[in-house]
Amino acid sequence: MKLTRIAYSKNLNAGKRGQLEEQAKLLGRVRSLVWQRYGSVAGVRVSDRATRDEWMADGTADTFGVLANAWKETVRDAVADIKANREAAKVPVRKAIHRHYKTDEERKAAYVALKRDTWADDPFLRRLMRKHWKRGRNHTNNQIVVRSDQYRTYHLAEGGNVWLAVPSLIRRKTVTIPLNTTVAPCGTLRIILREGLAEVHYAVDAPDLRESRPCGDAKLGVDKGYTEVLTDSDGNHHGRNLGGLLRTESDYLKATNARRAKIRSMAEKAHKAGDAAKADRIKANNLGMVKRNRRRARFESRVRTTTFTAVHAVVDKAAQVVAEDLTRPFVSRKKLRKNTNRRLAAWTKGVTAEALTSVSERRGSALSLVNAAYTSQVAPCCRILGKRQRDRLHCTQCGVVWQADHAAAVNILKRDGDSGITLWTRHDRVKELLQERIDRRRTRLPVQDSSPRGRRAKYPINAQQ
Ligand SMILES: [Zn+2]
Repeated sequence: MKLTRIAYSKNLNAGKRGQLEEQAKLLGRVRSLVWQRYGSVAGVRVSDRATRDEWMADGTADTFGVLANAWKETVRDAVADIKANREAAKVPVRKAIHRHYKTDEERKAAYVALKRDTWADDPFLRRLMRKHWKRGRNHTNNQIVVRSDQYRTYHLAEGGNVWLAVPSLIRRKTVTIPLNTTVAPCGTLRIILREGLAEVHYAVDAPDLRESRPCGDAKLGVDKGYTEVLTDSDGNHHGRNLGGLLRTESDYLKATNARRAKIRSMAEKAHKAGDAAKADRIKANNLGMVKRNRRRARFESRVRTTTFTAVHAVVDKAAQVVAEDLTRPFVSRKKLRKNTNRRLAAWTKGVTAEALTSVSERRGSALSLVNAAYTSQVAPCCRILGKRQRDRLHCTQCGVVWQADHAAAVNILKRDGDSGITLWTRHDRVKELLQERIDRRRTRLPVQDSSPRGRRAKYPINAQQ
């Protein structure tokens, strides 16, 4: 397994930073061109090598204004980004193949076509890929990729910090970057320029990544919540400060976004009235991204810490964790963009999915994903569809009141090994199946005591708030 290390520049002067920024900007144009030409079906089976040869031959390369090695590495990097983007789109398509084709041979042929990128010849696959693979655009204008044989590292004094010499825009001239570390970076470098700072990203082998902390021995189901990261099937909540973090950030964003919109309209008004200087001043001083990005980074790292801590707490107990497939989109992207709360919630779902995968892998526990349809509506005690009231689930048969997240976690645990409801069973079909099971049990069992009113609602162990 590879691990990314980051070294930072230390006291990089403005002249050098300017040179690097200029180069990154020119390379950004190369990236944009790659995305524009090959970011869709047209580029599916085109290799970066073919692109490079073509651009060398037809003179496109001469317009870039950067050295050959720099743009070639950038093409390779951008093609890899496009491929990753395309692979992500294949996840929902794979599920659709399972539903669409009925025989194993047909399914297999379709999976192979998807994998080998020959899906464009199959009308069904082509239609689906077009639906799920949204055309991307390049937004990266601050990166330089440097191959391992194109830079050198050195020390000015023994035991001192490392210096990095990378190619400039002029042949045989380098830009030297002082780093904040005594460890020299190695392999291919990705230099990312941020507010007055250069980050040097590189990959190292991580044989020591496997954690020594062992996992537990229980089998647990977990449900993803909004006020907490996870609730497990024992009824314990993990990462309870998530709700507070999300609420604070969402309130803050709503307020500042409204204010920014107002300021933006002032800038536009000034621009229309011919006062370009005022418009520019407002844009530079009141609509900047520096503080905004810094705050976002801080918030994200807090959520990640909370999430990973919560998942570690679950794995402390469990050798097998059963969870919902959290990578499935549940609301369209368009809707997400408009609603801050939902957008943040969707993002935390992704973080939880990542934490579950990576912590399980590192600590040696197994992760099973199941279909979570209706799991928060079934009362585990009597296996009927209960009555949901806010975060409570009432069993209408025996009168037990469940904490809805706890009930969901118990049901998710039971879904593992449920031969009727698989990961790909449709939502409406799950409800039918549940109803069939309830009916079957009713006809088999003797008539139940039909006066649940006489019983007091009681909480199952651990379900109290
Ligand atoms: Zn019950």
